[in-house]
Amino acid sequence: MEFWNLSLPAPVALAVVATLGYLLGRRGTVPENDLVTRSRRELRRAKSVARELEKIAWMVRRNLARHHTSLSRFKQRVGQLSHRQQEAAWRDLCREASEILTPTLRLATQIASAYDQIRQQTNHLMTFTDVRTDPLTGISNRRAFDDSMASQFAMMNRYGTQFSVAIFDIDHFKQVNDERGHLQGDQILQRLARLLDESVRETDVLARYGGEEFVVVMPQTGLEGACIFSERLRAKVEHEMEITVSGGIAEALDGDTPETLMARADTALYSAKGSGRNSVHRHSGEQVESVLEVAPV
Ligand code: GH3
Ligand code: MG
Ligand code: MG
Repeated sequence: MEFWNLSLPAPVALAVVATLGYLLGRRGTVPENDLVTRSRRELRRAKSVARELEKIAWMVRRNLARHHTSLSRFKQRVGQLSHRQQEAAWRDLCREASEILTPTLRLATQIASAYDQIRQQTNHLMTFTDVRTDPLTGISNRRAFDDSMASQFAMMNRYGTQFSVAIFDIDHFKQVNDERGHLQGDQILQRLARLLDESVRETDVLARYGGEEFVVVMPQTGLEGACIFSERLRAKVEHEMEITVSGGIAEALDGDTPETLMARADTALYSAKGSGRNSVHRHSGEQVESVLEVAPV
């Protein structure tokens, strides 16, 4: 009978694979308590899931339409037989067939509506990702960074967990733009973002803070650890790229707000700029010093 050709298992399996694939991928790249979706890779994954769901919803709807038609034809045929033969047995068969088929159709309708909901949620997720992603570099933008800071402060105030932030600013980038053109300047920003993205930990949050400034939020990391990481990163940029960066680091202290913490990191950054650039300075809460002076790395 045509009705049993209903190919729901295939779309169901596709939907499960697409959704699980997306969620597992997301779990692997984003910290659990972090609301921010971080990378262009993730945006691409969300978009391909949306496309898959679009196809699945279409298939389910097409199957539903087919089965509605075959169900009506089936009922009609049984009904005609019943008229001709006037047998109670045919009426019973007709009723039984309806009883079997109606809940199955209801289930299929529910599946189609579940797909619609998943699709809507994926669209929301894509919008959520879009507004938090820097279009040039594909990493988080300032808005996503603000969310991460808020969640790190909430964790610190509730559980006493420490964290640090680092700001990196390209040295003499105006000159780079003037000499090579804005387009190449953009490409340098993209390559630097990729290098930073590859260097940070899974749990760190990297964002483009402004034009040529990048920030890294380092959960569970004190000033010493942040110094080692930032100095290593500065050296990596110096060796692998045609530009250099300066960095400023600060650790969140009791009584801090995102503004006071960032102000200290900024002061450290400008101290690094003032001391000749291509270096990292830290703000201990009391004084600013080069990370190389404090602990050679
Ligand atoms: P310093 O070493 O003191 O940081 O010098 P700087 O020239 O990097 O600093 P300044 O803040 O004077 O200039 C930043 C420059 O970054 C200005 C602008 O030309 C460039 N910039 C900002 N956003 C973008 C962007 O999206 N693309 C490109 N190509 N350049 C940008
Ligand atoms: Mg700057
Ligand atoms: Mg600069």
